[in-house]
Amino acid sequence: MGIIAFQGDVSEHVQAMERVLGGEGSVVEVRRGGIVPGCDGIVLPGGESTTISRHLARTGVGDEVRGASESGVPIMATCAGLIVISREIVEETRFHPLGLMDVRVARNAFGSQRESFEADIDVSGFGSPYCAVFIRAPAVVGWSRKVEVLARIEDAAVAVRQNGLLGLAFHPELTADGRFHEMFLDMIREVDIDVGDR
Ligand code: GLN
Repeated sequence: MGIIAFQGDVSEHVQAMERVLGGEGSVVEVRRGGIVPGCDGIVLPGGESTTISRHLARTGVGDEVRGASESGVPIMATCAGLIVISREIVEETRFHPLGLMDVRVARNAFGSQRESFEADIDVSGFGSPYCAVFIRAPAVVGWSRKVEVLARIEDAAVAVRQNGLLGLAFHPELTADGRFHEMFLDMIREVDIDVGDR
């Protein structure tokens, strides 16, 4: 499992992932090219999407992530990570997203008045509400039929899935509720890619 570790809440993701993995696999922090091709799953953490995108382009890790995704390796992208994997960003001209997921995202969609907040959201497939932590969060404001919306706040989607891509507008690594991490591990088990063959 590779955690893209250029910037953002990397250590929280490493800890959350190690907790759900138990002994099932190891977590590696990715700061250079050559590591992603050996990963069976990839996490793109929250942080600052402009900065993360710049590092992805500079190091070639962005192209590796795209290649891994195209060969079916699951990706969990949270907050800024969701912005990075999107097809389109509303009113953003300074950088281009990777264009992996068929979604249109708005950055800082919940406004400065609500910079950070928690909300209980209903998630399809979950038996009880999930308490989600939003920090200057994006929202998915448009999506194609390839995208399954798992949770919404008003008209916007805040949890989305498209094949091996799981996009979350909030921070699952900041709460003890591991249900999204479990979902992601299930996605990896379903694929069961032998990374040695790629
Ligand atoms: N607002 C940030 C951005 O646009 C994302 C915030 C976050 O990841 N917590 O990159």
